[in-house]
Amino acid sequence: NEQLVLAKRPDGLPGDDVFRFEETDVKKPGENELVIESIYISVDPYMRGRMNDAKSYAKPFNIDEPLNGHVLGRVIQSNADSFKENDVVTGHLPWKKYNTIPAESVQKVASTDVPLHLYLSTLGMPGHTAYGGLLNIGKPQPGETVVVSAASGAVGSVVGQIAKIKGAKVVGIAGGPKKVKYLTEELGFDAGVDYKADDFKEKLAEALTDGVDVYFENVGGTVSDEVFKYLNRFARIPVCGTISSYNSKEDNGPRVQGQLVKSQVLMQGFLVAQFADDAEETSRQLAQWIQEGKIKSEVSIADGFDKLPEAFRNLFTGNNFGKQIVKVSDA
Ligand code: NDP
Repeated sequence: NEQLVLAKRPDGLPGDDVFRFEETDVKKPGENELVIESIYISVDPYMRGRMNDAKSYAKPFNIDEPLNGHVLGRVIQSNADSFKENDVVTGHLPWKKYNTIPAESVQKVASTDVPLHLYLSTLGMPGHTAYGGLLNIGKPQPGETVVVSAASGAVGSVVGQIAKIKGAKVVGIAGGPKKVKYLTEELGFDAGVDYKADDFKEKLAEALTDGVDVYFENVGGTVSDEVFKYLNRFARIPVCGTISSYNSKEDNGPRVQGQLVKSQVLMQGFLVAQFADDAEETSRQLAQWIQEGKIKSEVSIADGFDKLPEAFRNLFTGNNFGKQIVKVSDA
């Protein structure tokens, strides 16, 4: 069995020396326990915060202990009545090839007829984040303009597609021509703007002739500073994340106070966990939209447990395209 532990706390983008691969045993399952073989491991931006020794909503990872997060796996041994061999499950588990865990720590997936990686992306935590934040805080109305940053990513791509379903005009901001093209040609956004291009400000101005009614904030920093100039009266800003600051010690968060007052804008931070009571309905609705072809998902699958550090770094370099996961064994 193999596991990946946090060797030390990173300074900036986590290099290979921040991680350590170790051999470990597969514990024999006790009563009501399962042995799970990892199929896909999710790497997510919030894990960067957990690598710091700082108080936050999620506990810091401990040095010399395995990292952990959302994993999709298969039951290979069950001492619990509610699970049998080959059941496909998801849960919050340590980054190991095999985990021996109490049966309550995982849930069976609703259906194995869909691509299983969807349970870590659109049907999983990122999809629920998009749905909850956009519909509860952003509340897009038909004809309004919704802007989303990190738009081709796991959360952003779902935000934009739900906003389209709700009848809004959708402008996505992403890095590089490939991602921007994907937004308009594949996902049906009204416009895509490349924040890495020299003409970012001009292109954003062209796309925002009607201003901004909802800005779904994923990145912070200078990208958002530019969007804030276009906020309409009574605009809403669901603050989902500010990934541009996660590797730096400086606060790269939004600098928007002046605009909030001028246009009476509502800005509210949120955590996906606050929408937990709606999870069942959210999953049902997202699954239906996927089935109807109204929501598409892109995924970057890194092949092999040893790719975890590199896959994690992709989130911050933009080398991922859509939800980044790591394949540990065959589905
Ligand atoms: P993505 O799949 O969008 O991957 C991260 C993307 O962020 C990269 O592909 C890159 O896209 C973009 N990015 C990285 N660095 C920068 C930068 N300096 N400036 C601008 N863009 C950058 O990740 P997720 O969809 O999983 O997460 C998106 C956001 O949502 C994050 O801020 C995350 O923390 C937040 N989040 C919040 C949750 C909550 O409960 N509040 C839950 C889940 C996620 P590009 O190539 O376009 O630059």
